Amino acid sequence: MTPLEPDKIDTLFINCHLATMTGNALSIIEKAALAVTGKTISWIGRQKDLPDHLRTSCQKLIDCRNGWILPGFVDCHTHLVWGGSRSNEFEMRLSGATYEEISKKGGGIFSTVQSTRNASKDELFTLASKRVAALLSQGITTLEIKSGYGLKLETELKMLKVIGQLDKTFPLHIEATFLGAHALPQEFADDSDGYIDLVTKTMLPAVKDQAIATAVDVFCERIAFNLSQTRKVLQTATDLGLKVKLHAEQLSDSNGAAMAAQFSALSCDHLEYLSLSGAKKMAEHNVTAVLLPGAFYFLKETKKPPVQILKDLKIPIAVSTDLNPGSSPVHSMTLILNMACMLFDLTCEQALLGATINGAKALGLELSKGSIEKGKDADLVVWDIDTPADLCYLAGLTPIEMIMIGGKIQHNTLHK
Ligand SMILES: [Zn+2]
Repeated sequence: MTPLEPDKIDTLFINCHLATMTGNALSIIEKAALAVTGKTISWIGRQKDLPDHLRTSCQKLIDCRNGWILPGFVDCHTHLVWGGSRSNEFEMRLSGATYEEISKKGGGIFSTVQSTRNASKDELFTLASKRVAALLSQGITTLEIKSGYGLKLETELKMLKVIGQLDKTFPLHIEATFLGAHALPQEFADDSDGYIDLVTKTMLPAVKDQAIATAVDVFCERIAFNLSQTRKVLQTATDLGLKVKLHAEQLSDSNGAAMAAQFSALSCDHLEYLSLSGAKKMAEHNVTAVLLPGAFYFLKETKKPPVQILKDLKIPIAVSTDLNPGSSPVHSMTLILNMACMLFDLTCEQALLGATINGAKALGLELSKGSIEKGKDADLVVWDIDTPADLCYLAGLTPIEMIMIGGKIQHNTLHK
């Protein structure tokens, strides 16, 4: 036995093909084997190169019957803790109602804020659990969830506690992001600077003290918070030692991306109106671009993000569901992969990189998640597909045969 080989294997996958998502490519290994020891990947390679003693000493042998193994999906941008329902609003939209008309009838984000404020922690947990379970069944093994429907201290903390409870309850890894500066609450309608003071002087210190979020996000947009307000929040978060990210350039070019880059943001998200100079700043500071085709689709937007510029500047591109009740009620990563290809002109390889390793980069987790490499977390999905491109092409189909998270099997339809 060489020192490079594990001395013990818990699970060995054979008769599989791997799309390892390393080196900014699918990096396929056909006719492969993959071994897991404890929580981590301990051996990968061609099956013919698998040492005999590893095969004979493994605890559990899984025959993948020519299936494909990819890293579990990383969904790096969601707002899936919310109260109430907006489906009536969807029907009003389809009947021709404008946003203003819907708002006047109590719809829009403020209906979600009101319902989320009114809901108990247990009610929010029950509602969000169904959504997390749906994403897990789609092969998502790492998930980010933002607060931002409380817009007051007590409810923002309640949301973050629910996110923490989801992380403890479900096998998938969940990162919590504080998004207190998501929208201006009605009680601060004429005092947006006053609300930013509340976020920076009261909410952020409480979030830091309770250690219930790893990152801080802001909706920098003409309908939300301006550049100087956004800067205040990012500066305070940075001073408190929290990572930052930004909803930037979704509906207009506010120069948010360039500013967030100066704070070494993990990611800038949406980016439909990103300028060349903003993109250059992102590239300079190694900021990941998170594209959200579900919101673009659901809002019937027409201005696409400058994907060619992102590619030319070699900015990592992540894709995510943006699961939320107002602009992206999409519970499917495979559907998002198809949208990323069809709406934003990503190749299947780029879309799949976006849902795996680049999603991990957007969360600062690329050393442990998002690709199949020795020493990384054994977060793996076995797919019954002919080629990885099927995950983008067969819109919304989810032919999963097994899900493993941290070395533990969570779902298995393969014969053992
Ligand atoms: Zn969002």
